[in-house]
Amino acid sequence: MNIAFKSTTLSLENTERRTILVAGGAGFLGSHLCDHLLHAGHKVICVDNFSTGRMENLWHLLRFDTFSFIRHDIISSFDVPVDEIYNLACPASPPHYQADPIHTMKTCVFGSLNLLELAARHQARIFQASTSEVYGDPQVHPQPESYWGNVNSFGPRSCYDEGKRSAETLFRDFHVRYGVDIRIARIFNTYGPRMRPDDGRVVSNFIVQALKGQDITVYGDGSQTRSFCYVDDLIKGFVRLMGDQSAIHTPVNLGNPVEFTVRELAEQIVTMTGSSSKIVYKTLPIDDPRQRRPDITVAKRELGWEPSVALTDGLKSTVSYFERQLVRPSGELVE
Ligand code: NAD
Ligand code: UDP
Repeated sequence: MNIAFKSTTLSLENTERRTILVAGGAGFLGSHLCDHLLHAGHKVICVDNFSTGRMENLWHLLRFDTFSFIRHDIISSFDVPVDEIYNLACPASPPHYQADPIHTMKTCVFGSLNLLELAARHQARIFQASTSEVYGDPQVHPQPESYWGNVNSFGPRSCYDEGKRSAETLFRDFHVRYGVDIRIARIFNTYGPRMRPDDGRVVSNFIVQALKGQDITVYGDGSQTRSFCYVDDLIKGFVRLMGDQSAIHTPVNLGNPVEFTVRELAEQIVTMTGSSSKIVYKTLPIDDPRQRRPDITVAKRELGWEPSVALTDGLKSTVSYFERQLVRPSGELVE
């Protein structure tokens, strides 16, 4: 296969504040990050192919003359003068990243390569949204950054897990070889407003099912665990990690260390919404990790960061968001 990419030059005005590119800025986390950076006074360029991202996540940002967006797939290179880059571009939900696994791998590898080259060209600091999936189905619990993981290279999750692992390697090598100023966050399950109702991840699935009175689909027996971080906490962690005061060039876990079983999450959402939904048990997907909880010692020590939003509070605002998403102005539920 011939992998030759044409470079497109995108022209933009300069501002006195930092110009920050957010790849994947139309997605769940990316749009919250754009909000935060714009409110901090920066100029933000969102680059997104709108595969899982949505224009409705960006409408409210169009009033900022410091905001622009470009529809572009990061697997093709491009050039734009920037001071900082956040790479969040990649579908994060298992059904979405498995829908086109080759494109997911290309996004992780070619996309990261293109953004690293952009960073090297403009001496820009660059952030990678890595993932707890680099630990696979972990045999060490909770997971510290020093754990190398237990990842299947030949399964349905591999395009994402191995893609993200390769991206970390590329980041490391650009730092060592070209001195690129890198930051890598290993993000653990994060939830909040602006997840898509059809996202497919557990929090949005359960809330949407509960609000619609549909069966709550617990995969397996629901004894597998996850640790859920509210989006606002996570974005604060991103910005700390990218700050001038932090100079950590190795991966840092960002997530909430409070662990729940998936069954507990389902029960909590049914109770909170007052739903009549029943909990039903479905087949556990292949390679579904049994347990996951971040060891955030490094983030606490190096960044002074730890999450502050409890699951019940985060779920309340996420439920309100989905109530607004699912109810038409007429009062009917969206199908
Ligand atoms: P998301 O699917 O809502 O957002 C991803 C965004 O990237 C979307 O706007 C999508 O359109 C865009 N995108 C995908 N491929 C692209 C490409 N090739 N070129 C340009 N744009 C592309 O997911 P999210 O939850 O906001 O996750 C954002 C990032 O954080 C992802 O890289 C994900 O792997 C990482 N992450 C998220 C979580 C989490 O719990 N939310 C956990 C671990 C890692
Ligand atoms: N899950 C579930 N029901 C759903 C969606 C997910 O029981 O409708 C489970 C899934 O099998 C996994 C956990 O919830 O054990 C978290 O899944 P998610 O897709 O949110 O993220 P993952 O951590 O697996 O990437």
